Amino acid sequence: MKMPLSCDCPATRPGPTLASTCGGTPFMLFMGLLEVFLRSQCDIEDPCGRPKSASPYPEYDFIVIGSGSAGSVVAGRLSEIPEWNVLLIEAGQDEPTGAQVPSMFLNYLGTELDWMYFTEPEKEACLNENEQRCYWPRGKVLGGTSVINGMMYIRGSRHDYDNWASLGCDGWSYNDVLPFFLKSEDNKQLDLVDRGYHAEGGPVVISQFPYHPPLSRALVEAGGELGYPNRDLNGQYHTGFAITQSTNINGTRQSTAKAFIRPYKSRNNLHILLNSTVTRILINKRSKSAYGVEVVSEGKKQSIFATKEVILSGGAVNSPQLLLLSGIGPREDLEQVGVPLVHHLPGVGRNLQNHVAHFLTFNINDTNTTPLNWATAMEYLLFRDGLMSGTG
Ligand SMILES: Cc1cc2nc3c(=O)[nH]c(=O)nc-3n(C[C@H](O)[C@H](O)[C@H](O)COP(=O)(O)OP(=O)(O)OC[C@H]3O[C@@H](n4cnc5c(N)ncnc54)[C@H](O)[C@@H]3O)c2cc1C
Repeated sequence: MKMPLSCDCPATRPGPTLASTCGGTPFMLFMGLLEVFLRSQCDIEDPCGRPKSASPYPEYDFIVIGSGSAGSVVAGRLSEIPEWNVLLIEAGQDEPTGAQVPSMFLNYLGTELDWMYFTEPEKEACLNENEQRCYWPRGKVLGGTSVINGMMYIRGSRHDYDNWASLGCDGWSYNDVLPFFLKSEDNKQLDLVDRGYHAEGGPVVISQFPYHPPLSRALVEAGGELGYPNRDLNGQYHTGFAITQSTNINGTRQSTAKAFIRPYKSRNNLHILLNSTVTRILINKRSKSAYGVEVVSEGKKQSIFATKEVILSGGAVNSPQLLLLSGIGPREDLEQVGVPLVHHLPGVGRNLQNHVAHFLTFNINDTNTTPLNWATAMEYLLFRDGLMSGTG
């Protein structure tokens, strides 16, 4: 499909500085020109769909902290009820144009869109890293880590959900959450996936990337030879080899902000506060309930109050950090740094886990896979296909 080259709304936001993220004059020139072309593509630049940062009211029904994979969904869904006022607070800026192109996600790691965390020195992991500290990227942008991730549509193992439910998290068993996955999903390839586990019509468009390098099919076949079936990894089973489905629309990234915030940006009851960092959740010590937040915006600190709930969705690193800053955590840790204790909760900030990632480098005798060059760039700009339409 050929995409339109002019847009109805003027672009007002500053763009990404892709050229500054990589070395080498020819590469910088290539990326700079590519950026100019990308901005002329309406579906990527999306000037009419971009939300504006609001001047907040003093009080809302709900305050959602963090606009990532979780927070955008929560804010979008809560604001479906017109009687409720919702404030979504995000430390980062709006999604840049280039991040809408799947293959470019690596360019944004280590930039202002990333909190750029490093783990403490590890004894049994990160052995080939400096000081045995692993780089731990986290999105700091509207859409959070869903703007800089690999876009694979993987819901997670049913056993984890069932385990959480058995530990007392009512409503979190796999059977409890499945209807909400179905409600979100607009699967464009139902013929490729297990019946009963997928749906059409939701806000999140799901399909495989338009382009698969020939090697990917060979890898799936190799898995088959070793006895691993090629199957839907979000269906009845979670192990196997597959060309995964992803959160792409016609070869562009669909972050949760694109799915759940941009379509509702003109709802009067949904305010979005960008470039604003929550530094503390205000908690009534007696009732132990949250009644607002302290937020730093444009260098100024202010308190904003919530009449119903404060929802903390700052991600796996920042959510516990903000709980600790608000006085919720292990008594001894808080005392050590002089944070007044509101509630002693020993587990906060402990037991962080991530999946194993193992990077292999190998040479293949493959003359069919094209490199990133003007031909692949044009293929993407004109047809949303080729190497740039996937994360690899
Ligand atoms: C490189 C990479 C590749 C990945 N690939 C995949 C993949 O292919 N498939 C997959 O399913 N998962 C993938 N993941 C993981 C997935 O993206 C994350 O698990 C998911 O996005 C986390 O969602 P979240 O809502 O918990 O946090 P996030 O999406 O990180 O959102 C948290 C948001 O809160 C904001 N915030 C934090 N603190 C504050 C504060 N104090 N005040 C205001 N705002 C704040 C942050 O800026 C951020 O926007 C990948 C992750 C990375 C890093």
